Amino acid sequence: MKAAIFDAPRQMHVGPWTKPQPGPDEALVSVKAVGICAGDLYIYSGKNPYTEYPIIGGHEICGVVDSIGSDVTGVQPGQLVVIEPFLSCGKCYPCRVGKPNCCANIKIIGVHKAGGYADWVVAPATHLHPVPPALSPLWASFAEPVTIGIHACRRGEVKAGEYVLILGCGPIGLALIEVARAYGAHVVAVDVLDSRLETARTLGADVLKGNDDLLGQVLEQTNQEGAPVVIEATGNTKVIESTVNLVAAGGRIVIVGLVARGVKVQFPGLDLTRKEMTLLGSRTEVNCFPEALELLASGQIHYPKVATEFDLWSAPEVFAEISRNPDSVRKGVFVRN
Ligand SMILES: [Zn+2]
Ligand SMILES: [Zn+2]
Repeated sequence: MKAAIFDAPRQMHVGPWTKPQPGPDEALVSVKAVGICAGDLYIYSGKNPYTEYPIIGGHEICGVVDSIGSDVTGVQPGQLVVIEPFLSCGKCYPCRVGKPNCCANIKIIGVHKAGGYADWVVAPATHLHPVPPALSPLWASFAEPVTIGIHACRRGEVKAGEYVLILGCGPIGLALIEVARAYGAHVVAVDVLDSRLETARTLGADVLKGNDDLLGQVLEQTNQEGAPVVIEATGNTKVIESTVNLVAAGGRIVIVGLVARGVKVQFPGLDLTRKEMTLLGSRTEVNCFPEALELLASGQIHYPKVATEFDLWSAPEVFAEISRNPDSVRKGVFVRN
């Protein structure tokens, strides 16, 4: 089959790769649309510590079931599906307590195993979710990033009417904005780039520029109390550190943004007891795909309209361009016809 292959940091080519065969409980999926995620850019640039080259990236995958293994029930060849790319062991402590997203042996399709930048990809049938009829493959490929937003909002117990401060308006920030809006929250989004704030505004968020007086502005908007919920989606240490100031006493902080391995984040320790805030990490998702597809199909998620479509076989040029100029594309999606 044909695939777009990451060969080494900053080296990628389109060429032949052995066509995968589905095992007894797996399905072979013909790829239709596959998103470009920050995670893929990390593999491209050599910043993903888990990658062993060569690898086929792409974990935001929508495609048509081509064939199924002998033990598979519930999905049929010809069905349009999205793939839940996180494969957990089911045996370790986090798996046993219902947190397979933190599995000690997690394998991600498109990171540890061949992903969607190819003609075909194999996945366990249990990880396929049927796409509602209203959705195109491109829109359905947004299910995975939307699940990240859903999981973070579930972690933060975002409620209707609540003031929710979202730090960062990149692709994941936009997913957070839309999910929190769908939950009825009053969303205030922060970024340093005007172009990103403009997009956030079109999605129904109030916006604040991430400048020196952000705390003052948030206090002013919240009767000097601070934000009941702060969701961090920049991965910038200074921004992560600012969350303890921005949150209201008794409020919740959800950290979604990633920092590099070994990087320290510092808080004044007294704030943890004085404010008694709940500090939550949020990693990928747990059982969020059905809700993500529902939100997309019901028209409550709009940001796939900012996507730029690329031909999958132009991936080497597209990755070179995006890594040179990260703000040239708000969200890229490869499509195959
Ligand atoms: Zn992703
Ligand atoms: Zn596990």
